[in-house]
Amino acid sequence: MKKLYFKYGNGKTADLCQTAYNYREGGAKIVVMNADGNQTIASHVETNGKKILTLEPNAPINEYLFGQGFAFKTQNVDAILVDNAHMLTENHIEQFFYLCKTFGITVITYGNRLNKLGETPKASMRLMELSDTIEPVDGEDSFAYRANLQFYYGAMNASKTAKLLYKAFELEQKGLKVITIKPSIDRSATMISSRIGLERKADIVINPSDRLYGYGEYFAKEHVNFILVDEAQFLSAIQIDDLAKINHDFNIPVRCYGLKTDFLTHHFEGSGKLLAIADLKKLRTICHCIERNGAEFNARRYKNGEYITEGSQVAVDDGKEIAYDSLCDRCYITDVQGYEIDKPEKVLKKLMDKGIVKC
Ligand SMILES: [Zn+2]
Repeated sequence: MKKLYFKYGNGKTADLCQTAYNYREGGAKIVVMNADGNQTIASHVETNGKKILTLEPNAPINEYLFGQGFAFKTQNVDAILVDNAHMLTENHIEQFFYLCKTFGITVITYGNRLNKLGETPKASMRLMELSDTIEPVDGEDSFAYRANLQFYYGAMNASKTAKLLYKAFELEQKGLKVITIKPSIDRSATMISSRIGLERKADIVINPSDRLYGYGEYFAKEHVNFILVDEAQFLSAIQIDDLAKINHDFNIPVRCYGLKTDFLTHHFEGSGKLLAIADLKKLRTICHCIERNGAEFNARRYKNGEYITEGSQVAVDDGKEIAYDSLCDRCYITDVQGYEIDKPEKVLKKLMDKGIVKC
């Protein structure tokens, strides 16, 4: 299936203009939209005092966005580029997502992860929850010159814990000092265990209300070289902030591993904060259909195979009643959400029934 992208960071508009140019140069048909409603998209980049990177949006963003897909399909549109995507509504994001998947049109959105108050705009968060690809426009990590805070995210079974344990092993082989942290909410009380059998005792197990910043000085005194966090989605936003401050003040790299979203495609508190501030690395895994795109979403199901579409955000797989599947976009949208993705009229009807598309 085609992909939904979220691109953030410096040089967004210049990248959008360049991407539009590249698509057109290659003979592709594109649609350009601007969420701030301006008639011209202009990059700040200047050459000899002249703004040369400008574009005219050629389609509106409205409450019937998904419906425009029928016309785009007839016109053989290959991609939609959206500027200022952080200004969209969550309904717009849902519509872009289904438009992309139903009509087979790539959607590339450009927006900010944080606003001026340091908060994540709702639209940006929804885009990160649903996007296949989240990346900085310039491809750079935020603190390339020093230790950074990283979020290695993936769906269930992306062997996140195994990768954490392997990383710890590798670092210690080099004589470096590693601290491992895990939240108490997880299955096993003190062990960090991967499904394939690797395990190690966590150095620090944190409860939901614990603060972490206080460890910073101790880590520095003990010459800790690396902090690895398992199941980071279950940390609170404050705990992630504490880790970010430890990373910043004591210059210790922090690498968090965790799920991006829950069984209903929404972020957890910890993963939401990490999506907003960390350098992001996606870990891939496969869907049972072996679709080439790999699994993006987590589905909760009963042991008999029936998918569950409501309930509390956290329900740990106890080996008895509940299980999880990591699914690709197509399997999740059709098997869990029940959309007939190959019948655009039916998808439109369902989106209208849900109040996501309005005439
Ligand atoms: Zn699949």
